[in-house]
Amino acid sequence: SSISSMLEVNGIEVIYNHVILVLKGVSLAVPQGAIVAILGGNGAGKTTTLRAISNLLKGERGEVTKGSIELRGERIENLTPSELVKRGVVQVMEGRHCFAHLTIEENLLTGAYTLRDRADIAANLEKVYAYFPRLKTRRASQAAYTSGGEQQMCAIGRAIMSSPSLVLLDEPSMGLAPQLVEEVFNIVHDLNTKEGTTFLLAEQNTSMALKYADYGYIMESGRIVMDGSAHDLARNEDVKEFYLGMG
Ligand code: ATP
Repeated sequence: SSISSMLEVNGIEVIYNHVILVLKGVSLAVPQGAIVAILGGNGAGKTTTLRAISNLLKGERGEVTKGSIELRGERIENLTPSELVKRGVVQVMEGRHCFAHLTIEENLLTGAYTLRDRADIAANLEKVYAYFPRLKTRRASQAAYTSGGEQQMCAIGRAIMSSPSLVLLDEPSMGLAPQLVEEVFNIVHDLNTKEGTTFLLAEQNTSMALKYADYGYIMESGRIVMDGSAHDLARNEDVKEFYLGMG
């Protein structure tokens, strides 16, 4: 295994409910400091791939039955989600998962549950507010009364509260107006360049993802069918024909 990759997924298979083979040998690599996108349509297996990495399949009655997952050269398949957070791997789930009855600030603070030092927590909160000024304005509002875009920002902000090195981001564009999608991707780009945070994101919005990512993997029916630099994928005729109208 190469230690130049922060994350390496090697030939994983995932089965749901003991019978349904959903990932049929998926391999991918995420270099330190990169933004890598997993692209593809509905049901291609993007979410399942992210969940396999962050060990969130159990609640879905899924399991990795073959292959390996390595973080900085170390196997991580048997680590719990919270052990993964302590090692810097955090997932932002699809559909914005904020606690509706908590305020924006309370939601953000729940993301710091692995940190002990109050000063670190306060510093991270200020950092999140610097990246997401909208969240600062809305800090005392109950999440239920904030917009879809604010809740997506809150979910990403909550992940940032744990000082992650690798963020797994599932469909950041989902349900957002185009202008907000651009705003969210801009913040991902800023976190990547200024904090050095590595991102692995799943997106159906191919054109937006390829605009911000360094590298992309295209999935179909549980397999990677194409991969390349975002620059090359955006110019590939098949990608243009089959994917660039989507999202
Ligand atoms: P989407 O954008 O719709 O989330 P996706 O590319 O993320 O698509 P997955 O959610 O990973 O795809 O789903 C891949 C396949 O696994 C689909 O056929 C889906 O129906 C199936 N699947 C997902 N979750 C489960 C589950 N808990 N039990 C059984 N099958 C599942």
